[in-house]
Amino acid sequence: MNYAHNILETIGNTPLVRLNELTNEIEALVLAKVESFNPGNSVKDRMAIKMIEDAETSGLLKPGGTIIEGTSGNTGMGLALGAIVKGYRLVCVINDKQSKEKIDILRAVGAEVVVCPTNVEPQDPRSYYSVSKRLAEETPNSWYVNQYDNLANTAAHYEQTGPEIWEQTDGKITHFVVGVGTGGTISGVGRFLKEKNPRIKVWGIDTYGSVFKKYHETGVFDENEIYPYITEGIGEDILPKNVDFSVIDGFTKVTDKDAAIYTRKLARQEGIFAGNSAGAAVKGLLQLKEHFKKDDIVVVLFHDHGSRYVAKMFNDDWMRDRGFLESDIKTAADLVSR
Ligand code: PMP
Repeated sequence: MNYAHNILETIGNTPLVRLNELTNEIEALVLAKVESFNPGNSVKDRMAIKMIEDAETSGLLKPGGTIIEGTSGNTGMGLALGAIVKGYRLVCVINDKQSKEKIDILRAVGAEVVVCPTNVEPQDPRSYYSVSKRLAEETPNSWYVNQYDNLANTAAHYEQTGPEIWEQTDGKITHFVVGVGTGGTISGVGRFLKEKNPRIKVWGIDTYGSVFKKYHETGVFDENEIYPYITEGIGEDILPKNVDFSVIDGFTKVTDKDAAIYTRKLARQEGIFAGNSAGAAVKGLLQLKEHFKKDDIVVVLFHDHGSRYVAKMFNDDWMRDRGFLESDIKTAADLVSR
């Protein structure tokens, strides 16, 4: 018989899939690491379980304890799977920019969800950073995960995601391209790959409204770079400890509109139904195309699944309301007039 003893054992070993249409202006082989194949439908399952196990080992998380985290959804899903299998309570603090689906999904897997306003300073007592910290202080036998500064996040990708990519490409990978939020994925994978072959280039995808690109280029934390944006999962208004700038060769920024459009193209042209940061990653990869030569092997990582964005980037009305659809059929009359 061949079965997993619980759902956590099915995390990882996700497929690497060649992109055939969207990147055909690039001569290099472009391969996507499709992380929606994880049981929680995102890469974050990996680091969520690693962070729980690390906290168990260090004694921060005790039997019957409560896990508390400020999460945009995917980490919450991974933590929820861990909490169910290992018998913990989970409270997720989320900001109101996140899709309703993400909140509903978290509740579906038993998490308690607290929603906070997005457009307040991180130091504001209403921000999801502040609320999650306060809940952790006030709840007995609780552990505050802090995926931004918890280095078990990066370690998960150093131990799993990086080695998988190295093995799946027979060590031939030349470039790694990935969206950056907490920084765990790029730092863990990047560090592993560069230890194997220092010539591998690592590119981060950032968004307009985030501090990473400017900080990487100038060493200056520029508050003028910070403003509200729509793209989900990438970019920050803080510098998380998990971002190891020393393994990152450069960043490129992708607009909200391009990220949304390329998320849709990925579904329609490649049949890969992935999340918003995957669209940003593909567009960013195209922006970087002069860096890739014919025999290069470029791996791009797609963090999560498209189902979480059906009411957003995959919805024509939502796209039109933001001016993201240039031409479209709105009514039956438009259809006839074409
Ligand atoms: N995309 C999505 C959809 C995410 O949830 C995250 C995590 N915030 C990222 C990209 C960025 O990954 P990381 O936190 O490892 O930098």
